[in-house]
Amino acid sequence: MTLVMKFGGTSVGNATAIRETAELIRQAKTEWHELVVVASAMGSRPEKVTDLLLRGAQTAVTGDDETYRQVAAQLRHIHQTAIHELLIDGVEKEEVLAENGRFLTRFESLCQAVHVLGELTPRALDAISGMGEQMSVRILAAYLRQQGVAAQAVDATQLIVTDANFQDAAPLMESTRERVQAQLRPLLDQNIIPIVTGFIGATAEGIPTTLGRGGSDYSAAILGYALPAREVWIWTDVDGVMTADPRLVPDARSIPMLSYREVSELAYYGARVLHPKTMRPCVAHGIPLRIKNTFNPEHPGTVIVETAVNGNGGVKAVTAITDVSLITIEGKGMIGVPGIAARAFGAVARTNVSVLLISQASSEQSICFVTPSHAADRVITSLSEEFAVELHRQDIDSIWAQQDVAIITAVGAGMRGTPGIAGRIFSALGTQQVNIIAIAQGSSECSISLVVDGKDTITAVRYIHQLIQT
Ligand code: ADP
Ligand code: ASP
Ligand code: MG
Repeated sequence: MTLVMKFGGTSVGNATAIRETAELIRQAKTEWHELVVVASAMGSRPEKVTDLLLRGAQTAVTGDDETYRQVAAQLRHIHQTAIHELLIDGVEKEEVLAENGRFLTRFESLCQAVHVLGELTPRALDAISGMGEQMSVRILAAYLRQQGVAAQAVDATQLIVTDANFQDAAPLMESTRERVQAQLRPLLDQNIIPIVTGFIGATAEGIPTTLGRGGSDYSAAILGYALPAREVWIWTDVDGVMTADPRLVPDARSIPMLSYREVSELAYYGARVLHPKTMRPCVAHGIPLRIKNTFNPEHPGTVIVETAVNGNGGVKAVTAITDVSLITIEGKGMIGVPGIAARAFGAVARTNVSVLLISQASSEQSICFVTPSHAADRVITSLSEEFAVELHRQDIDSIWAQQDVAIITAVGAGMRGTPGIAGRIFSALGTQQVNIIAIAQGSSECSISLVVDGKDTITAVRYIHQLIQT
């Protein structure tokens, strides 16, 4: 029986957390025949290692020759402090320090190249941002060995084969399965725990890629599929998936059981606790996912399975996505004209921006949809070009963006067939004078999303949260 366990940034954020993580790995190895560990980059405070790496690259391209050097010093300090606190003096420690140094030298050279060229490609960003995982797994593996646990750091560039869609690469499952069998099987057969980098992969030609921010959860699920594993456990810093982000709602509670579907909706609509694609490989093999708290391991956390009990037939959790804009295409001349929506979304697709939510009035006088705020101007320009003729003829009156809105989503499979849920949500917001700008409900009835003004985000989340029954 094989178990994949993934440890997030805070679980490897400093020496104390790494000790805790190593202990959980040691215990799991006594209970599971085969164990594969996936680790994120150190989620050190106040800034995560991945954020620091990205900041170095992004400032270098603007002509700033200073920041990436400071960032490199900061990264050196974070990693070396952990190494000195965890490892006893000796050859192993010297090797880890030297490897770490090599990654940081490479980081500085890449940033310098970016600075000189004045160009930062998605490909370069992936090579730079994936180094955090490469450094953390080496520290964790060395510490485990020092504790008498056979472990070996493995770069997922050797395992997870992806397409070349840098920054959001998709795994090629069949090639990945072959690599995983070829590279991990021999280690597992020798009773060695592979400590694999989350977040990263490589194309078939070996060019490094990343699976998107927060992608280590997805890495664990991909390996779970390829092995295959009996279960995948995600260790993080909260007691599982909660009824809301505990940072927004202090009395949020842990949810014992959820379905893949429910968690996909939650993750898609902003619950950062899991990368939205994590469920895909698990669904394929029916692999249960558990979310557990590294800092409170006794807590059962959340188990995610094919079909979860329906709770009380109502809302189970509520999420928010902020920093988004609502784009509206409006005009009486649009009524009954075929192809407007197709052309609109074609124009958006050409900008490479993803649409998070769509809503259309039944009279077809307007179509509105939500995109990330930073992309709103680009989308409006593309739409204005696409509909230049219609705008000139005034079939379309205007195309405009309402900045700083938020998508609030209530999730629960039991909402399906339970009348009155939407009504209760609307009146909860009505009592707080929260204006609902647009609404969308998936036909699965597993979620209802509302667009509200950004300033109403916390009120909306808290008042919908009050509808969740215990
Ligand atoms: P990791 O580094 O372990 O992957 P993340 O920071 O990516 O951790 O995800 C965990 C965080 O997700 C929690 O600390 C919490 O603030 C946030 N979060 C947002 N929504 C939820 C939710 N519904 N349930 C649990 N955590 C949530
Ligand atoms: N380290 C990566 C990030 O910060 C991946 C992850 O944490 O899952 O996005
Ligand atoms: Mg995460």
